[in-house]
Amino acid sequence: MAVYNPKSLHAEEFINDGEILETLAYAEANKNNEALIDEILEKARPQKTATGWNCKGLSHREASVLLACDIPEKIEKMYKIAEEIKLAFYGNRIVIFAPLYLSNYCVNGCVYCPYHAKNKHIPRKKLTQDEVRDEVIALQDMGHKRLAIEAGEDPKNNPIEYILECIKTIYSVKHKNGAIRRVNVNIAATTVENYRKLKDAGIGTYILFQETYHKESYLQLHPTGPKHDYDYHTEAMDRAMEGGIDDVGLGVLFGLELYKYEFAGLIMHAEHLEAVHGVGPHTISVPRVKHADDIDPTAFDNGIDDDTFAKITACIRLAVPYTGIIISTRENETVRGKLLNLGVSQVSGGSRTSVGGYAGYTPEERPHDTEQFDVSDQRSLDEVVHWLMDCGHIPSFCTACYREGRTGDRFMSLCKAGQISNCCHPNALMTLTEYLIDYASEETKKKGFEVIERELANIPNEKVRAIAAQHIEDIKNSNRRDFRF
Ligand code: SAM
Repeated sequence: MAVYNPKSLHAEEFINDGEILETLAYAEANKNNEALIDEILEKARPQKTATGWNCKGLSHREASVLLACDIPEKIEKMYKIAEEIKLAFYGNRIVIFAPLYLSNYCVNGCVYCPYHAKNKHIPRKKLTQDEVRDEVIALQDMGHKRLAIEAGEDPKNNPIEYILECIKTIYSVKHKNGAIRRVNVNIAATTVENYRKLKDAGIGTYILFQETYHKESYLQLHPTGPKHDYDYHTEAMDRAMEGGIDDVGLGVLFGLELYKYEFAGLIMHAEHLEAVHGVGPHTISVPRVKHADDIDPTAFDNGIDDDTFAKITACIRLAVPYTGIIISTRENETVRGKLLNLGVSQVSGGSRTSVGGYAGYTPEERPHDTEQFDVSDQRSLDEVVHWLMDCGHIPSFCTACYREGRTGDRFMSLCKAGQISNCCHPNALMTLTEYLIDYASEETKKKGFEVIERELANIPNEKVRAIAAQHIEDIKNSNRRDFRF
């Protein structure tokens, strides 16, 4: 029988079923242990240091106790600390991105995904390089600077060469003042060699959702195709890191399995990456199963309500304080608004989940036949940007860390040293200015410049503040320079 070992490179040892079951039993036994819960909450709280903030994070056992706890005052406390952590390390910035679907050809049999190979009534589509260019221009015209590319798994139709060619095309499109400055990649688990090619192509984060950490369920939910191999899928991030990619994004598709099991597995996966590679996941995504072509989310027994979803998000924030949390347009405005106060640091906006869904279509006309799932938040990017500012956040189009080589542990050190306020904050304000000038509606522009003026005053370092203010003036006066902190 496999023994739990976070440093092992074998899936069954670092995501160890026995350890997860013991964790769940421990959490259940202690869910009303108020003294222990207070101790864990105290450990999670950010501490001010001479140079910034420090956060200890939580082990999967500690975090699972919090997740099991149903005491309303303790949950309130978790939420408060989650927000404190978010503000300490990320400030009130929210990074914006959009998905770009390249191809829905897929040889897998994932039972929750409409792209599964047996679905014969949806059209299969793969963008040509001209179509990629058109999509990128449409995305740039909305104001996007950061994309997550998505594709089904199909070695014949979507080989790695195709993905690499698309990345090259995306980075090459310079339309008006637009440019895609960071391409994150969400493609199926692959080889070290292919991860190295992705790294060389200049990708940002490699994202791969585990879907479920429960092996038996995983095998049933992925009955056919290469994705059926649980170990190969679960060990993908280790291969990605071996291939030189140091920003990796984890995620669970909530609804497939019992959420407490998934949560423990997710935190154990983060601990494993930290233990083996010295750097935890760059991001964690929290998707829930949604309706799609031939997919009915109620057919899955483990759907979670909005309150549980919020609690999971807050507990992730407490457990892995330096990891970004992503919430997509699978969720509606209300849910997104709530989660933004519990530690979420990235959102998508104006998203289309179909292949070729951006170019040439108004939101109403957009095609549905190749959509991977229904989009609940259908607002335009301009509306999302305006809304974020109304809620007290700063929408950020910044990609500076990636462009300055501040990835992996170098990003984490910046974060831990509390330098975000002198670095990411001014970068966010400068990129927001670019967005406002180039793409925003008059109302969003007005709101945005008020926010920028207010937020500039919050940059602690006087010199940084002066430089940022000058650059913002320059952008307003059409004097663009490729500058970032
Ligand atoms: N084919 C790649 C793979 O296997 O990892 C790329 C991922 S796919 C384009 C993006 C993610 O969408 C999947 O990992 C899955 O978690 C999610 N997804 C699939 N069907 C979904 C549905 N019906 N509702 C919500 N999310 C879904």
